[in-house]
Amino acid sequence: MNFEKMTIVETLQGLKAGTFTSVDVVKGLLAVMEASQATIHAYVTIDAEGALKQAAECDRMRAEGVDLPLLGVPIAIKDNMNVIGQPCTASSRILEGYKAPYDATVIAKLRAAGAIFLGRTNMDEFALGSTTQTSGFGPTENPVARGCIPGGSSGGSAAAVGGDLAICALGSDTGGSIRQPASHCGLVGVKPTYGRVSRYGVVACASSLDQVGPMTKTVEDAALLLNVISGVDPMDATCLDVPVPDYTQAWAKADVEKPLAGMTIGLPVEYYGEGIDPEVRALVEDAKQRAVALGATLKEVSLPHSDYGIPTYYICMTAEISANLARFDSVRYGMRVQCDDVIEQYKRTRAEGFGAEVKRRVLLGTFVLSSGYYDAYYNRAQKVRTLIRQDLEAAFKECDCLLSAVTPEPAWPLGVYQNDPIRNYLSDVLTVAANLSGCSAIAIPAGKTKEGKPVGVQLIGPNFGEMTLFKVAKALEIAR
Ligand code: GLN
Repeated sequence: MNFEKMTIVETLQGLKAGTFTSVDVVKGLLAVMEASQATIHAYVTIDAEGALKQAAECDRMRAEGVDLPLLGVPIAIKDNMNVIGQPCTASSRILEGYKAPYDATVIAKLRAAGAIFLGRTNMDEFALGSTTQTSGFGPTENPVARGCIPGGSSGGSAAAVGGDLAICALGSDTGGSIRQPASHCGLVGVKPTYGRVSRYGVVACASSLDQVGPMTKTVEDAALLLNVISGVDPMDATCLDVPVPDYTQAWAKADVEKPLAGMTIGLPVEYYGEGIDPEVRALVEDAKQRAVALGATLKEVSLPHSDYGIPTYYICMTAEISANLARFDSVRYGMRVQCDDVIEQYKRTRAEGFGAEVKRRVLLGTFVLSSGYYDAYYNRAQKVRTLIRQDLEAAFKECDCLLSAVTPEPAWPLGVYQNDPIRNYLSDVLTVAANLSGCSAIAIPAGKTKEGKPVGVQLIGPNFGEMTLFKVAKALEIAR
């Protein structure tokens, strides 16, 4: 049996029916995972022993009549979330050898729901990038569009699920890092509302932008995972006490013929301008037509400050990453270049442990926060961030959610643009607004280009608008 091709729903069905055991599923997965490491390289570490042990325990529990939402379902975890006892490096050499001393809240929640932790997926170093090429442990290849980037920074998670090397995965999204790789690998990826999911135990990238979310093969699987990982957490003061609905109910009451009747979907004119690849444009157009056939009304809206999205994001995010990475000082975590002089030790450890992109962002971040430039850059960016949020709030007065491409172009070949940071940064143009404003967003597959590269479509919703997004996403998925 090809266990690796299964969804969460199929895995749970088979486990409940006794068609196979969790140990069978994990063994099947481990075989394909290990075989693909030399080519796809989706994982930075595989915990075969730990996963098999957990699987045996889940099988024992099931035999005793225990039922949990994800009992016996294996999941791949991005290398920036602490799973007790497993390495946690955020794909950085500076954290090589570091083992997680505790579970992140999302992991504790998954564990309590019965999930099994297969291994750690590759990522851009500290989640800085859009290609997974900034990983300190080598790049990941797109398993669908071979020879191309899988996207990033959650490229390992996307390659694992998209390449049938995992049933589902978690990623994190600071400026698009769940949605963009999901789009490049033909998956569903959710960037939850800021405060929906706890960040406790997740290696901080830019704290005011980061959210953890599901990366799955289907909309229903994403809803199942979000049900488990959402909710208030006393360990994260930014995690909000808002009731968690059952996201799988989002489409339960929908009219079968016209599930989107009465809904208005906004099309931000600024997101349909120049620079969108013609094939991407055509696939987005197809999704729009499907939405209309399903009963939705389309309406053009404007997000007038969109042009400022990328500069604002790269000022806010570099400021926060420069502060967050200050803790990697050779004393508290990970690697150390031993020197007699402590200042020299800091310098040499950081010089050797961090990659080029990390250094670039730390330099930029310390610059925008420096006393002479704080008002000109950081303070101004915070003000523009408010304007960007207000644009979205105004749009959501006119429509239920927005629809656009996820990225302007499909996955590009590995190595291309590698030395062109600006080119990489520009690929986030359609995703950063959701992070800057905190609102909810989802990427779902829209189809493939003539060359067979997956392309996604993005839905952006208001704060805590996940139910609306799931409803629209499910309808579009069925109609594809
Ligand atoms: N590509 C964006 C960046 O490089 C997004 C990163 C992310 O979401 N973690 O900052």
